[in-house]
Amino acid sequence: MVTANWAGNVVFSSRTVHHPTSVAQLQELVAGSDRVRALGSGHSFSRIADTTGDHVRLTRLPPVCEIDTAAATVTVSGGLRYGEITSQLHEAGFALPNLGSLPHIAVAGACATGTHGSGRTNGVLATAVSAVELVGADGELRTVRRGDPDFAGSVVALGAVGIVTALTLDLRPAFGVRQYVYEGLALDDAEEALDAAYSVSLFTRWAGRGFEQVWLKQLESDPEPPVRLLGATRAPAPVHMVPGVDPKHCTPQLGEPGPWHERLPHFRLAFTPSSGDELQSEYFVPRAALLDALRAVDAVREKVAPVLQVSEIRTVAGDDLWLSPAEGRDTAALHFTWVPDTGAVLPAVAALENALEPLRTRPHWGKVFGTAPANVAALWPRMADFSALARRQDPTGKFRNAMLDTYVPL
Ligand SMILES: Cc1cc2nc3c(=O)[nH]c(=O)nc-3n(C[C@H](O)[C@H](O)[C@H](O)COP(=O)(O)OP(=O)(O)OC[C@H]3O[C@@H](n4cnc5c(N)ncnc54)[C@H](O)[C@@H]3O)c2cc1C
Repeated sequence: MVTANWAGNVVFSSRTVHHPTSVAQLQELVAGSDRVRALGSGHSFSRIADTTGDHVRLTRLPPVCEIDTAAATVTVSGGLRYGEITSQLHEAGFALPNLGSLPHIAVAGACATGTHGSGRTNGVLATAVSAVELVGADGELRTVRRGDPDFAGSVVALGAVGIVTALTLDLRPAFGVRQYVYEGLALDDAEEALDAAYSVSLFTRWAGRGFEQVWLKQLESDPEPPVRLLGATRAPAPVHMVPGVDPKHCTPQLGEPGPWHERLPHFRLAFTPSSGDELQSEYFVPRAALLDALRAVDAVREKVAPVLQVSEIRTVAGDDLWLSPAEGRDTAALHFTWVPDTGAVLPAVAALENALEPLRTRPHWGKVFGTAPANVAALWPRMADFSALARRQDPTGKFRNAMLDTYVPL
């Protein structure tokens, strides 16, 4: 029985965890419950997945990964993780446009919170979704498709409009990627470095030395990148971004070509991702405000650095999904992997939020944040539309929880 999230900082309040083995069983369960929420792979650091009622895990539903070759789409069942579908897609000659830093997360759970990878032209993972099949509050199964009036509110939906039983995702032809790591980049070169390849991540410990590492994920068909990138030089051996952790947890580097799904995530499925003992926060600013945001964090680095394991900067293309972190704007994402000590971390989170507040900074729904609820609601222009959709789809509030009550006004 699952009682806590992956990080262990959230102990769930659910009275029961159900594992339905068919969609019909799930429908019956949802129809008969007064409070119910889906739990994905439990990788969120916030209380977004919590409920005081019934938790539902979809891992025992029949696993479906059905590729439509002609349409270049795949329909995946709600319990599957990215790492359970990507090889099959690749073998069929297809790819997803992008992935997050780890393949361990459930597709439905990742899309529900607006999880993202990096890349100027890459949207959050939910932008690949063209249809969502879900069990509504009445227990009925329905499908919302791209172009339907409710679609843009039903994908990054925080579990508030139903339990997703299947997602249809757009595919592109399979592609190869080479991953290179560079060391030593100046803070002011961030803008240019982030556009240097298909997907780029900058890592810093905010120790006043710029970025210690630049991870470049380059299409195999693109020319080899320079040996020196701006002021940075290529790492001579594989590295992990968290000091002291074995690089064998990470996907292959040194320019060794490989399939998209073995290079776009930083971490390998068979290994613990990240440091494995941590909290995380992440903030999203308009891409045009990236340098201002970096300078704002630099100004409070003495509060941030002592409780930080590492910080990562990425880019995300703007989209039109109502609660996406990149809704309506090309985005820069500033991520923080903290030490696993909530009491020590919260003052640093507050200092960061204070420093970033003037930049219309949105927090990641699945990570630790303390932004005032009224400010959160004002940061997403379509929040009122989302609230209306949730109210209409779930009139008795069975999918709601304390976090939605706090941040998504009814
Ligand atoms: C080591 C680590 C690395 C990470 N890296 C990244 C990263 O690179 N980029 C990034 O953006 N985030 C990252 N995250 C955060 C993570 O991707 C998100 O928290 C994501 O939501 C986790 O997916 P999950 O399935 O574990 O969701 P859960 O935490 O289980 O649930 C999240 C939300 O999804 C809802 N949900 C889950 N399944 C369903 C369903 N079937 N139907 C309806 N709602 C559902 C839940 O109710 C809840 O509201 C990372 C987290 C960890 C632990």
